[in-house]
Amino acid sequence: MTVLSYIGLGSNLGDSQQILVEAVQKLAALGPVKVSKLYQSPPMGPQDQPHYVNAVAQLETALAPLELLDILQGFEQEAGRVRLRHWGERTLDLDLLLYGEKNIQNERLTVPHVGIMERDFVVVPLLDLDATLQIQGQCLQALALVQQSTLTVLADSSWVNFDL
Ligand code: ATP
Ligand code: CA
Ligand code: CA
Repeated sequence: MTVLSYIGLGSNLGDSQQILVEAVQKLAALGPVKVSKLYQSPPMGPQDQPHYVNAVAQLETALAPLELLDILQGFEQEAGRVRLRHWGERTLDLDLLLYGEKNIQNERLTVPHVGIMERDFVVVPLLDLDATLQIQGQCLQALALVQQSTLTVLADSSWVNFDL
């Protein structure tokens, strides 16, 4: 049995677009993947850091949530992620936003991801992938931050080449 999982990707250090392309190509080795458009967003938290490049990927997977988290954290390490400060700059951040309709709460994992409804850089790309998406009965499309988005579109959904 497989579920549709949604993974938030962010980077603001290094060649961020290329780092996100490589992360999505690694996800595509795990199962069928679709991607949102590619966005630029102002930083959350400390403001003295570069803008972020963000996207969301949909992955169809039979992996258990913690198995998937382990793999995502492995990809972050491979991209050279170092923890500098809370919500600080990073080469790659991979958040498990949604795992089917499951609610998960344990010491390593909260799903749906915390803050999901308040972050335009997550909600807007999620809507690229599924315009009817609901989280706990709430239609993402109806959220005010969708109209007041601070995002800039960098590329349409063809920013990753899957034919390599
Ligand atoms: P935020 O979680 O607010 O976006 P962040 O991405 O900067 O902040 P990290 O330092 O990347 O936070 O992650 C801290 C911890 O969050 C991880 O070690 C992981 O165990 C935990 N975590 C809890 N829920 C999730 C989730 N849904 N996806 C990814 N990590 C999660
Ligand atoms: Ca994050
Ligand atoms: Ca994270």
